[in-house]
Parts: sequence; C-alpha cells; structure tokens
Amino acid sequence: MVFLGIDVGGTNIDVVVMDGEFEVGNVFSTKVYLPRFYELLDKLLSTYKPKAIGVGAAMWFRDNKPVKAPNLPELIDVRGTISNTPIFWDNDANCFALYCSIVEDARNLLGITIGTGIGCGIVVDKNVVRGGGLACEIGHIFVGGRKKCVCGGHGHLECYFSGWSLKNPEELIKSGKIYKIKGFNLLCKAIANAVMLLDPDFVAIGGRIGGRLNGKKLKNGIYEYVMPHFNPEIKIVNDPLAVAKGACYLAKLSYQSR
Ligand SMILES: [Zn+2]
Repeated sequence: MVFLGIDVGGTNIDVVVMDGEFEVGNVFSTKVYLPRFYELLDKLLSTYKPKAIGVGAAMWFRDNKPVKAPNLPELIDVRGTISNTPIFWDNDANCFALYCSIVEDARNLLGITIGTGIGCGIVVDKNVVRGGGLACEIGHIFVGGRKKCVCGGHGHLECYFSGWSLKNPEELIKSGKIYKIKGFNLLCKAIANAVMLLDPDFVAIGGRIGGRLNGKKLKNGIYEYVMPHFNPEIKIVNDPLAVAKGACYLAKLSYQSR
C-alpha cells in the first residue's frame, strides 16, 4: 500500500512516498504550488495512486478543522478528500514527533522543531496528544521581559530564540556563540520544564535551527534544570524530511484505524 506524506513549509513543499520503505518523491516551490495545492495533489494522486495522503503544515487544528494558519492562508479551507482519497492533516510539529517516536521506538516523546518559530509535539503511549488541538505551544510560554512576540503576546520563548527573533542564526551556530546567548539558556529551561511535566523517555530536536544544534551542549543545558530521576534521551534529528515522513505515518495510521 502506498501512502503520501507532504510537508508544506514556508519555502518548499516536500513530498515523500511510502511503499514499505520511504522514497523521496519531490520538492516543489511553495510560492508556485501553494495557490494550486489541490491541483498538485491531483497530479501526485495520478502518479503514485496512494491509499491516503498526510499533510503536515504550520497550522493549528481543533477537531480536524484549522483554526489558524498565519503563514498559509491558502490552506485554511482544507479538504478531507480528493478524488475519494482521504487527506489527513496535522500540525507539522505533531508530524515530526510522530515520526521520531516511531523511528526511535519511543513510547513517550517530546518533539521540538526550531526554525522560523518553535513547534512542539507530544507523544504519550505512542499516541500524539493534541489537547483541544493546540497542546504544547512551548514557543509561546512566558519566559520574562517585554519583547513583543509574533503571536501578539510578549516575553515568549520565541522572542529570544527563533529564526524570526535571532539576527543571524546561521552565523551564531557556526561560531558556537549560540550556546552563550540568553535565548539558548531560556530554551533549555523551557525544555527542562516540559520534561518535568511530561516525563518523556525521549526528546527529539529538529528543524532548520534545532537540527543543527550540538546535542551534547543542549543535553547539558537541559540537564542543568531537570530534577534528578528524570533522564530522557536528548537527540538532534537533522532530517529535513522528518515532517513529510511523519505525515506519511499519519496517513497510514489514520487510514488503518478508520
Ligand atoms: Zn508568542
């Protein structure tokens, strides 16, 4: 059985095909293909003939209906099927967490993606936990100060550590200075707090910025604030297709449990 996983990002739409093993399908420009998203799905359907399609995007859902898609307004009117093929949607960080929990065989996992913003997905007993739909907005927890956040609030973690708030994250990572800034310390504290709330056995960090951090430095930073007896594995997952692969699993698992 073939399943398709799609990651709708700010720059690219990544497609992976799962037919037993993963194979990379294709990369499309978001700018060109997002306005014609369902046309693209039609084309993919006739090429790969999947049983179901999973889509991960920086959107927030309640009861499978999107409530917010600040960067992808074209997708707010999502469809549940195309040519009778079911489409399953989820927040991209949830797809990332689902993928990591399966490949790492982790029962309880916290998956954090750090790119333009910070996304987070929770897996408990192998199931993605969504709360009312918006669970685990770790990027918007209050860490102090008056800095304005893109969400309209202030003093949130993203104001100190994210692609939109850091001046030159590439350079900071390359020079190693990123581990010395206040934002990195706040990130470690926030993850430590989440670890103590959820007691995961695994914390996976990915995304354009997160996937390139030094795992040992991050682990040391987090463990400085974690109470003894908590000992999750901390791992950097530097796979740009992790969200699309997670969307594949979302399609497969949702299709099989219908
Ligand atoms: Zn915020």
